Amino acid sequence: MKKDDPFSDPDHTSDNAAVDTDVREQVGHETVEAEIKDLQRRLINIELALKKIAKDRYENCEKCGQSIPLARFKLVPEARFCVDCEKKLRK
Ligand SMILES: [Zn+2]
Repeated sequence: MKKDDPFSDPDHTSDNAAVDTDVREQVGHETVEAEIKDLQRRLINIELALKKIAKDRYENCEKCGQSIPLARFKLVPEARFCVDCEKKLRK
């Protein structure tokens, strides 16, 4: 009787189909993780680029390149020039 029991078969646990499925799932999992890591790395680069753009765009006067004080941005968020250049441009 015991010989007919499929669970007594020593090859049952190392069934080929089951191993293939495990490997495929593992590879799929690793691919997704690699894609997530790649996306995260790209996101960090995008964030750095945006910060750099924002820094160049908003922290320095477009005319003389001097840094514009944060207080000025609180009053004029769209400020592109420092106070001195703004005054000169308005003359
Ligand atoms: Zn300026």
